[in-house]
Amino acid sequence: MFATLSDRLTSTFKNLRSKGRLSEADIDATVREIRRALLDADVAVPVVRQFTGAVRERALSAEVSGALNPAQQVVKIVNDELVAILGGQNRPLNLAKNPPSVILLAGLQGAGKTTLAGKLALHLKSQGHTPLLVAADLQRPNAVTQLQVVGERAGVPVFAPHPGNQGSELDVVSGADPVAVAREGLATAHARQHDVLIVDTAGRLGVDAELMQQAADIRDAVSPDEILFVIDAMIGQDAVATATAFQEGVGFTGVVLSKLDGDARGGAALSVASVTGRPILFASTGEKLTDFEVFHPDRMASRILD
Ligand code: GDP
Repeated sequence: MFATLSDRLTSTFKNLRSKGRLSEADIDATVREIRRALLDADVAVPVVRQFTGAVRERALSAEVSGALNPAQQVVKIVNDELVAILGGQNRPLNLAKNPPSVILLAGLQGAGKTTLAGKLALHLKSQGHTPLLVAADLQRPNAVTQLQVVGERAGVPVFAPHPGNQGSELDVVSGADPVAVAREGLATAHARQHDVLIVDTAGRLGVDAELMQQAADIRDAVSPDEILFVIDAMIGQDAVATATAFQEGVGFTGVVLSKLDGDARGGAALSVASVTGRPILFASTGEKLTDFEVFHPDRMASRILD
C-alpha cells in the first residue's frame, strides 16, 4: 500500500546519511521532501501540516546523541510522529460487561462493511465468542444475500429479513425496516445467547442524509458498544470529508481501514485517526475472510519506514 511513500521517505533519509551534523537548512530541506511525499500519498493537508511541524521542531531541538547519527535521529522522529498520527497504541475492541455486545458498522457503499462483518465475526469466533450477524443493509438488493454468504463462510449465523428464511432457524421480520431488523436481531442475540451482535448497515456512494439518519436510528435502537466506521484506504483526499460527515451524522468510536492491500497512495490510512480523533482498530487487507488484522500503529509505521 505504501510502496511509493516508503521509497520517497527512504531516499530522503539516504541523503542525510553522509551528514555529520544537520544544519537548519538540512532539516528544512528534509521536512520539505517529507511534506511532498505525504501530499503525493494523498494525506490530508492539515495532517501533513501538523506532522511536518512536529518533525521540524523535534529535529531542530534534537540532542546530539551518542547512539544515533543525525539521519537515524530523523528516522526515529518521523517514526514516532507516524505512530502518533496513526493513533499511538492499539485500542482493543470495547466489549460490554453484560453481553451481548453490539457492534454497528457504518460507511459508504463499497467501503467493505459487509466483508468486514464476516471478517470480524470470524475473528471473534476464533477468540471463543458466539457472534450473530444482522443484515440491516436493506438498501442494496444483494446486501442481505451477500451477508448470508459471508456468514456461511465464517460459520456464523445471520439474522435477516429474508423470505427464504421462513420456517428456518432464523426469524423473519415483517416489512423491510432496518431499524426493526436491528432491534429484532438484538432480541434474538439475547434469546439465543450470542455474546456479540454485529450489525451491517446501508451505505450510499456519497454521503446521504437519509441513510445517515437511518444509521443514527439503528444506533438509537440498539445502543452499540462500538460504532466502527469502515473506510476504503484508497479514498484519497475525500477521506476527511467523508469521515467528518459520518462523525457528525452517526458518530463513531473507532475506524476500520479496508483495502489496505491496494496499491494506491493510502492517504486515508494516514489521515483518518488524526482528523477524527478516533483510533483505528482493524485493517482489512484482501477479499478473503482471513485478510484481516488487528491494527497496530507502531507496526504500520515500521512497515512504511522499512
Ligand atoms: P459494503 O458495500 O461497504 O458492504 O462493501 P463490501 O463488503 O460489499 O465490499 C465492496 C467490494 O470490496 C467487494 O467486492 C469486496 O470483495 C471488496 N473488498 C472488501 N474489503 C476488501 C479488502 O480489504 N481488500 C480488497 N482488495 N477488496 C475488498
